[in-house]
Amino acid sequence: VPESFNSLQAYAKDKLSVQMMELFEACQQQPPDLERKERCRARLQEDIQSIYAVARLYLTGSSMNGLGCRSSDADLCLVIKGNKRPDPIQVLSRLQRTFRTLSYVERTQLIRAKVPILRFRERGSDLEFDLNINNTVGIRNTFLLRSYAYADLRIRPMILVIKKWARHNQINDASKGTLSSYTLVLMVLHYLQTLKEPVLPSLQRDYPECFSHFMEIDMVPEGPKRVPPYLSRNHSSLGELLLGFLRYYATEFRWDKEVISVREARALPKTNSKEWTNKYICVEEPFERNNVARAVHEKIKFDAIKAEFAESYRILRDRKDLNSILPVRAVI
Ligand code: ATP
Ligand code: MG
Repeated sequence: VPESFNSLQAYAKDKLSVQMMELFEACQQQPPDLERKERCRARLQEDIQSIYAVARLYLTGSSMNGLGCRSSDADLCLVIKGNKRPDPIQVLSRLQRTFRTLSYVERTQLIRAKVPILRFRERGSDLEFDLNINNTVGIRNTFLLRSYAYADLRIRPMILVIKKWARHNQINDASKGTLSSYTLVLMVLHYLQTLKEPVLPSLQRDYPECFSHFMEIDMVPEGPKRVPPYLSRNHSSLGELLLGFLRYYATEFRWDKEVISVREARALPKTNSKEWTNKYICVEEPFERNNVARAVHEKIKFDAIKAEFAESYRILRDRKDLNSILPVRAVI
């Protein structure tokens, strides 16, 4: 690798790329943000252990995967081991009663989704938590995403800008039938893996021992430390990659025929399995291989998502200014 590509500036020589780098630097999660989340996690784990003695609490999601903003919530997974799988709703109801007695917790709310969660805030702050029970795939995929995030300097700024763009344009909310952040991240990784000169490989293929399904859950956070950076021959700037991402989903990706697989670093043909038929968007979970984009189940929402890619691609291609698709001042 030429020395010049060891710093992000090397990929930010044009105006659009500089805008992306500046937005990233202004919004990315800071060390004190993570320290605050970690202090809360440790305190909660201790209080939870007075009910579930051997339970362990893990921070997951964007707080840990390198793709978080200063304003990101903190996702938590409570792992309760034992031969009998506990009912998550029962555990969360029990925790809710306990949390209401804790001085540093407020506004607890039980959400009965496919993966039930307890949502709450740190008292007197705007730090929000989403806690699930035993959804350990979230721990595995958090550390897989973390390895991708740090495999190349361009990944973190690129994904942060795309998350902000999607949020601003109201296509980043799974509870409203659009894309979850997790789905969006897998879509970006897929684009970077399938370029003629890829920016990313399949890490599950190249380092199977680091990302095995069977690794003990407490070992999972250590996996990424053993993955070296990927040396790509693709030296496209941040701006070129952003425009290429929008172009790919606006003009190239065949939504009706292809399944996004980050696990295999390619698009798979849609088979007739029930996971993929009659689904507007198919994005494979890298470990469980189910569809992470199942929240998009209304045609009107799917059309809105595609329209946003098409419109933003056209505008950015003509204007080459980040503000034309995302008012940077308003989102910092
Ligand atoms: P944000 O910064 O917007 O909070 P995030 O990276 O935390 O983004 P979310 O979509 O909130 O993304 O998901 C949080 C975590 O939950 C993900 O990192 C992933 O570990 C897990 N997760 C979310 N959706 C799924 C899913 N469909 N299947 C498996 N794990 C999921
Ligand atoms: Mg989150």
